Amino acid sequence: MDYLPIFLRVQDRLAVVIGGGAVAARKAELLLKCGARVRLVAPELAAGTQALLQLHSAGAQLSHQCASFAGHHLEGAALVIAATDSAEVNTQVSRLARARGVPVNVADDADTSDFILPAIVDRSPLVVAVSSAGAAPVLARRVREQIESLLPQRLGALARFAGSQRQQVNSALQPALRRAFWERFFGAASNLEKLTLDESGARRAFSAELQDFAARQDGVLLGEVYLIGAGPGDPDLLTLRALQLLQQADVLLYDRLVSPTILERARREATRIFVGKEVGDSTLAQDRINDMLITHARRGLKVARLKGGDPLVFGRGGEEIAALVRHGIPVTVVPGITSALGAAASAQIPLTLREVSQSVTFAPGHVGVADTLDWPALARSGHTVVFYMAMAQLSGLIQRLRQAGAPADRPVALIAQATLPTQRVVHGTLADIAERARTGGFGAPALLFVGEVTRVLKGAA
Ligand code: SAH
Repeated sequence: MDYLPIFLRVQDRLAVVIGGGAVAARKAELLLKCGARVRLVAPELAAGTQALLQLHSAGAQLSHQCASFAGHHLEGAALVIAATDSAEVNTQVSRLARARGVPVNVADDADTSDFILPAIVDRSPLVVAVSSAGAAPVLARRVREQIESLLPQRLGALARFAGSQRQQVNSALQPALRRAFWERFFGAASNLEKLTLDESGARRAFSAELQDFAARQDGVLLGEVYLIGAGPGDPDLLTLRALQLLQQADVLLYDRLVSPTILERARREATRIFVGKEVGDSTLAQDRINDMLITHARRGLKVARLKGGDPLVFGRGGEEIAALVRHGIPVTVVPGITSALGAAASAQIPLTLREVSQSVTFAPGHVGVADTLDWPALARSGHTVVFYMAMAQLSGLIQRLRQAGAPADRPVALIAQATLPTQRVVHGTLADIAERARTGGFGAPALLFVGEVTRVLKGAA
């Protein structure tokens, strides 16, 4: 991060804005909204700026110094914004402000600025600020628009209401319970509605709910586990529910296949625990993971168990659910995009295609498990097979398919690191794919796609 994101209190402090045009007026207006006293410095004011002046000067919040900029205009300033149309004047403002140790912003010039004004979504007291550190203002604005459309207008009222109830909650509940209570309160979408329709009713309902919560909880907290599919790697392929729960979790237990960019999307304060498993790890390791899930949940924490792809596809999610249910711990499962689907999409290989392949099988590629597979069925034409864990025993896998009747020229594709910037795709046939993988230095995690479908759109991706 190139800038420290902070929210600065400016109530009744002096902010100096140099410039008399529309940009200066906009900045002045924002500062006034935040309660600052604003001194506008400009030899002349545009019409809109004059109107603003008339509106606010009565309360003495906004004053105008009708002059060209000089150093003494910065006297007493808590911050300065230079928004004239002269680069020379703006630079001079920046220089003099810095000399006095007053933070300065120059409109549209990061080099001479100490701080930047982010794009904002205003649901006061809830405010979202977005910045691209000057690198891509248009992108920042787009993100702002997306957030704008996501957040209900009434969110501000809800935040204000919550603020007015904080004291009450703090005296009714011990610290460990407060967060759980607020989570429940904000989680109930109907609260927003209740509040707009009937504020005093909402207040009464709130107090009743709080008393109820305080009485029932009795100091005993029950945590829960979210078993979350993190998808194949690209964080944009997380589901909305996965993101929501990642934002709520106190602890994250994650696998080797969960990329760092996905972990970044979790609550910053959450404890992150790596429980990565290599293929073929012992049951002991799995037992240890189950124990950790149970221990954390029993402490009353929200535990996110993050797994690559989908938790119920070659992910041992089933074992973890069983262990949690045995211990009476609530578990929520969030599906993820399994790597076969992610890889098919990013390499543009259809899994089924009319007249080419009518069915698809996901199979494990390492032999320990593969022994129980119906190899003749997997070797049939007109069918697609995706082998997970394909690299561990690639040659053995190919040999089994060949022995079961698959022809040497059956088209195949190996896809490693699917959906990540490091994705690699190698096309070939059962006869030559192992050699191609070897010479290409191809590594795990990878999937082997077997079937005519791998040839149809070859080269399109
Ligand atoms: N639950 C996971 C699979 C776990 S088994 C899922 O639904 O995808 C581990 C195997 O998944 C790896 O050996 C590899 O075959 C596959 N895999 C996971 N992520 C992958 C990726 N980004 N690219 C290619 N293969 C991947």
